Amino acid sequence: MAEQCAFCGKKLGLFNDSLVCGNISQPVCQDCRKKYQDAPQALRCRDLLEKGSPVEPELLRAFLEREQKELDEINAEQERLGKLMSCCGQPMTPVSVSEFQLGRQGFFTGDWPNIIAGAMELAVFQCEQCGQVKFMNPKFIDPRAIKQNLRGG
Ligand SMILES: [Zn+2]
Ligand SMILES: [Zn+2]
Repeated sequence: MAEQCAFCGKKLGLFNDSLVCGNISQPVCQDCRKKYQDAPQALRCRDLLEKGSPVEPELLRAFLEREQKELDEINAEQERLGKLMSCCGQPMTPVSVSEFQLGRQGFFTGDWPNIIAGAMELAVFQCEQCGQVKFMNPKFIDPRAIKQNLRGG
């Protein structure tokens, strides 16, 4: 059975190419490979479902739903963080998640009775408006939410 390109329907020769979309390998022609090889999987899936004839379309749909759900979760988390870590009427920018060395007289120890002198991981947020910096225990943050707009990360 001659395979055809999942994107454009073009008949494929003996040595056909394939591209992974939604974690499923789809047969593609050279042109579509060029066009889509740098595109994110979600975009490939969407185009396949809209215009193409993909292998296992249900699995692609499921993949997109998962992606969307994950995106929603990240957005919700970012909104929560934005409300929590806000200053000058705007959300603070996550700057980094770094380890802080706490000395015996570390100024955190009073407020953090469970932490003995040592290193502690903290997420750092900064207000772009006034330069104020806030810390947060990264355990309470979904790391994906920070990663999304972490500078240089
Ligand atoms: Zn094609
Ligand atoms: Zn501020």
